[in-house]
Amino acid sequence: MLDTEKLRKDFPILSRTVRGKPLVYLDNAATSQKPKAVIDALSNYYLNQNANIHRGIHTLSEEATQAFEEVRKKVAKFVHAPSAQSVIFTRNTTESINLVAYAWGRKNIQAGDEILLTGMEHHANLVPWQILAQEKGAVLKFVSVTEAGTLNLEDLDKNLSKKTKLISVTHVSNALGTINPIRRFAQAARSVGAVLFVDAAQSVPHIPVDMRVLGCDFLAFSSHKMLGPTGIGVLIAHEDLLDKMPPFLAGGDMIREVWLEKATWNDVPYKFEAGTPDIGGVIAFGAAIDYLQNLGMDNVRAHEQELVAYALAELSKIQGLKIYGPLDAAQRSGVVSFNLGAIHPHDLGTVLDEDGIAVRAGHHCCQPLMRGFGISGTTRASFNIYNTKEEVDKLVKSLERAKMLFDACAPGAFSTGSSSPKETSQKSSRK
Ligand code: PMP
Repeated sequence: MLDTEKLRKDFPILSRTVRGKPLVYLDNAATSQKPKAVIDALSNYYLNQNANIHRGIHTLSEEATQAFEEVRKKVAKFVHAPSAQSVIFTRNTTESINLVAYAWGRKNIQAGDEILLTGMEHHANLVPWQILAQEKGAVLKFVSVTEAGTLNLEDLDKNLSKKTKLISVTHVSNALGTINPIRRFAQAARSVGAVLFVDAAQSVPHIPVDMRVLGCDFLAFSSHKMLGPTGIGVLIAHEDLLDKMPPFLAGGDMIREVWLEKATWNDVPYKFEAGTPDIGGVIAFGAAIDYLQNLGMDNVRAHEQELVAYALAELSKIQGLKIYGPLDAAQRSGVVSFNLGAIHPHDLGTVLDEDGIAVRAGHHCCQPLMRGFGISGTTRASFNIYNTKEEVDKLVKSLERAKMLFDACAPGAFSTGSSSPKETSQKSSRK
């Protein structure tokens, strides 16, 4: 098990206060906090190693190149990727998905082909495929979401056909926490010769992920949700798949030879890494992976599962509070989305902030999913390794305070049985 009390000391930001109260950071699905080891790795790079990579023959450049390429190996090992060369560094999960939609999609998707997605995708795993489908005359199909916040797998079989060329699905829902059965999607994809893309932005940071077990062709995730810096994303695919794809961005580093009228491409993964990357960010991401490896992803998962089970039990005691997603902690990550009576999530989030509690409120970049539930959004608490049961207690106490406050303003409006915030304007809330 994790020694939460000890490891909290590794995260300097956790000792700050917000509005005079100790910070309770429950917005981890948006981005995680960073341990000192990551912050130090970033500043050490700029203090001692700063140089551009791959091109230099001087010592600093060689050192930076080696440190950067070491992280590629670490990432590959962390998720059991086919090889270090199968790991491409991007800016974030969003860019990884766009890379595939552009480079793989424009080559392999034709008019009449089908792309199978689900009703719980983050906009990042929806809009790039919409654009591709519109451009190519392809058809988007969807696996629907049940009332319980799980995927309706009958839709998977029903919508699968020889026309299905790509299936793209989130491993873990950022809005509900639902853990999806990826192997089932891999079997489906294989049965019709389709390619499987897995959006692992919410799984790799929180549960052990083994690409070999998942059986997917593409995997994408972001450093900033897994204790690393912002600005670094990962895309992984078998080298032979990447070899056949045309480039995404063009320029320095991704070429082998350039003439005035034409150019040839560098090997994978460099073919997909045009221009100077965020070198310091990648090196610091390596420190984040080391940190998680030292804790052990099984321990990370066990801690967060215990916390989410406790949160589900305690939140269920609040009259008028509706939880979305599976109620079994084994079926969900450390994410709990809820509504309290008819209180708008933004108003609820504001009251929680007064108590130093950071949560996310809104549609969580999942407008179609929210629409399916007939709501404009939810309030979402999402946990990480440094969160504690005491913090869950503070959340519950603050929600009780919010309930009293709003009941005092509009008596009866927020009691049990009152409706959840209805879909009206889709106020913006990202991540
Ligand atoms: N997919 C999922 C499931 C996510 O939760 C997020 C971020 N909230 C993304 C994709 C996009 O990640 P990023 O903003 O790092 O590109």
